[in-house]
Amino acid sequence: MANHINILTDSTIGKIAAGEVVEKPASAVKELIENSIDAGADSIEIEVESAGQSLIRVADNGAGMLPKDAEISCQRHTTSKLKDISDLETIRTLGFRGEALSSISAVSKVDITTFNEEKSSGTHIYLESGEILKIRPAGRSKGTTVAVRDLFYNVPARRKFLKKEASELSEIVNTVGRLAISNPGIEFKLEQEKRSLLYAAKDMDTLARISLILGKDVSDHMVKIGSLSEKYKITGFVSRPSNTRRDRRNQIFFINGRYFQSKLLSDALYGAYRSMLERGRFPSAVLFIETDPGEIDVNVHPSKLLVKFKDERSLKNDVINAVKTSFDIVKQQVADRGHAESGEKIVSGPGDLAHCDDNVSQTEFSYTLKESFLRPVSSDRGMGLFEKGDIFQIGGCYIARIKGDRINVTDQHAAHERVLYEVFTNAAQKGAPEVQQLLFPERIDLSASEAVVVEKVMKDLGSLGFQVEAFGEKSFVVQAVPAIIKDRDVKTVVQDMISDIAELNLSKTEYVDQIIKIASCRGALKAGDRLGREEMWALLEQLERCSLPFTCPHGRPTQFDITLDEMEKRFRRK
Ligand code: ADP
Ligand code: MG
Repeated sequence: MANHINILTDSTIGKIAAGEVVEKPASAVKELIENSIDAGADSIEIEVESAGQSLIRVADNGAGMLPKDAEISCQRHTTSKLKDISDLETIRTLGFRGEALSSISAVSKVDITTFNEEKSSGTHIYLESGEILKIRPAGRSKGTTVAVRDLFYNVPARRKFLKKEASELSEIVNTVGRLAISNPGIEFKLEQEKRSLLYAAKDMDTLARISLILGKDVSDHMVKIGSLSEKYKITGFVSRPSNTRRDRRNQIFFINGRYFQSKLLSDALYGAYRSMLERGRFPSAVLFIETDPGEIDVNVHPSKLLVKFKDERSLKNDVINAVKTSFDIVKQQVADRGHAESGEKIVSGPGDLAHCDDNVSQTEFSYTLKESFLRPVSSDRGMGLFEKGDIFQIGGCYIARIKGDRINVTDQHAAHERVLYEVFTNAAQKGAPEVQQLLFPERIDLSASEAVVVEKVMKDLGSLGFQVEAFGEKSFVVQAVPAIIKDRDVKTVVQDMISDIAELNLSKTEYVDQIIKIASCRGALKAGDRLGREEMWALLEQLERCSLPFTCPHGRPTQFDITLDEMEKRFRRK
């Protein structure tokens, strides 16, 4: 069959181009807000319905458009921000390609109402698939409102690829939050179906704005940083080493006022904290990098958020130094205070920065051993699976014993994690995980997007033993937890779970499993937890009873054997 070449219609071309600028509701939200900022607005209201899929409305008090400008604003390559190529060198606005409105309107139904004071009347325009269907004079105070309805209604393929509502919504919240952080002095209001998701008053400072998306628990424990070198000015806030996360999602970077993603900066942060971090934990950080535009190469593709720096090494060094300096200052302040008052804003005690790599808790695990361990996972097999001989704990982490003609080595954390995972999964299936009421309920303050997620999954959390209650808009109180984690840092466990569910776009079965995994991991013995002989045997017996004893829930091995054969090889007898 011959392949005929077709000429694409303008409408098809428009939709393809649109895909590059608006890939999801959050990107439309970003473009519309950037237009409002470019128009000089100092108050921007964003309203969404069904996570932006049925409605995104952005209203501002910026300059507005004249009728003739409004009319062409949705055509491709129409911009008021760039006249010729020489402007590119000095451009200060967020947009200048003239692609956003045309792209958005090509794949939705758009209402624009705008009023520029130079003219006595405002304008209202209605478009479908990028075509103007109505245009008429309309009243409005100075500014512009753009309402985008039924995004991707004419591109079913893209509509299909939208994530679950909670995920799209959390991207919108994060997008608005990042713009609020990088644009102090502008009021931002985000609502979904009349419910406030985020609000930044005009005079709200940067740290308070950071708390909107990272949550107060994170922002309250950040340290200010600042440095100025020949090439880079670095300002921002970083978390204390004791206040870290399981991933890098709390690292937010801006280059010359624009959000971007950067492995280089993540690595630099890691370098600055290195010896102070528990493995698998990452600092939270909001960094503002200012530099001469000639020092960077901004990838001109609109949806790519990457930036190439000419002098990566200097930037990395500057970031590391900025962070370390701020820590030294904090340490000094603490020392000056004679270690006396705790509860100070910057740091709660000298140990906070000094305790470095022994974040690993050496807490009491006696509960787990006595109460949970000794209870059989399944009752059909009795105790006493082993011939109990000598048993040793090596390096505070591994259990070694002789097993026939071999040496068996077990990782105590991985093994216990597997045991708890199966105990918990079994209990959850029966709907009866053992619950521990907290003597002192833990309050957690979440980001707006996380709060939305918690409300959705509150019931499922409850059936797993996490009794979480709303306590104001973005605050929750944990009243009870599954008994297996009662002695652990409940706040961190719950926070990790929530940020996972919020970001991973999981189905119900998946997130229930994820919760169980996190609880098991956190509830399990840690490296460094000292075990007595009875406890070690109890753990091994429990492990033996598991249905999948050979790996932890994340797939790492729990045990291995050193066989006689191997010993003989090592001694070159074979
Ligand atoms: P760009 O921002 O790259 O110029 P857009 O497609 O986003 O392209 O917008 C096209 C033009 O429409 C802008 O240059 C601006 O003149 C006008 N415009 C869009 N949104 C607004 C707004 N909220 N207020 C005032 N003018 C706007
Ligand atoms: Mg724009």
